[in-house]
Amino acid sequence: MTRNVVTGGAGFIGSHLTEFLLGCGEEVVVWDDLSTGSMKNLEACMGKPGFTYVISDFISDPSFDNAVRDADCVHHLAAAVGVELILRSPVRTIETNIRGCERALSVASRYGKRFLLTSTSEVYGKTSSVPFSEEDDVTYGPTSKHRWSYGISKAVDEFLLLAYCDSPALPGVVARLFNTVGPRQVPYYGMVLPRFIQQAKRGGPLTVHGTGTQSRCFAHVSDVVRALHALMHTDAARGQVVNIGSDEEISILALAKSIVARINPSAEIRFIPYEEAFEPGFEDLERRVPNLEKARSLIGFAPSKSLDTIIDDILEHQRHSP
Ligand code: UDP
Repeated sequence: MTRNVVTGGAGFIGSHLTEFLLGCGEEVVVWDDLSTGSMKNLEACMGKPGFTYVISDFISDPSFDNAVRDADCVHHLAAAVGVELILRSPVRTIETNIRGCERALSVASRYGKRFLLTSTSEVYGKTSSVPFSEEDDVTYGPTSKHRWSYGISKAVDEFLLLAYCDSPALPGVVARLFNTVGPRQVPYYGMVLPRFIQQAKRGGPLTVHGTGTQSRCFAHVSDVVRALHALMHTDAARGQVVNIGSDEEISILALAKSIVARINPSAEIRFIPYEEAFEPGFEDLERRVPNLEKARSLIGFAPSKSLDTIIDDILEHQRHSP
């Protein structure tokens, strides 16, 4: 039976991945310090055969070594999340991302374990020509703008993983995730979709940053975790960086309008200038669309859920666990 370590397993994506792995009959040991994750995310896993968890900081906890030694696969998801958290805590963002990945990779390579790193479309920086392909050049803003520290710290993680993969000791793969959404995602750190849903339910206003012409593509977390599992077990994906997400693009204003229409037609949409929402000089990405060709050819990946289905699913989940 495959035994997995999932760092960040109490987070939004980590908990869905854990449920998926248990559903495949695999064993999972979750490692999470609950800095942004929550044990509530793992309620459905409690008591399931093959599920254990450790609430601890795996960067400093020596027993993480044994957990990895006894596992077959390491899924490294623990990371700082969300633009707002990054702007509030830039030191924590950089240290969590770089030290965490260094630690997970060094232990996994010592034992030659399969390794998957979840990275982010932030690695593309402010590249403007869409769709984004894995081998594209990237452009970032200046180091005086904290926003870019997130993408650059995850790019360093990718470099490190790819460097480890050059020695045969580490069969690793990088999944670059684009705006993953779904049940249990919290609105606290940015995350526009759960935030708009919460704002609409509370009577508004929905806070659209800038003019709302900026667009994103939202993928259901169930599609994403299926892809992570496939990447982990596909030999041809070793040493590769692979975009995972949806390529169905929607502007943020259109998203706000659609949520207002569904949830609360009387809720107001309010435009907030970026400098008020974030900080003076904040730069946003106008468009962020993945080229999914590599994911399709390596693992046959295609997103299966439309944005409407995703929103229905989130609302349905909230009805059962408000
Ligand atoms: N956004 C918004 N209102 C909010 C939260 C976010 O208009 O209350 C915008 C944000 O400025 C960005 C987009 O929605 O243009 C997606 O933001 P999110 O934080 O979800 O993801 P990311 O910026 O990482 O793509």
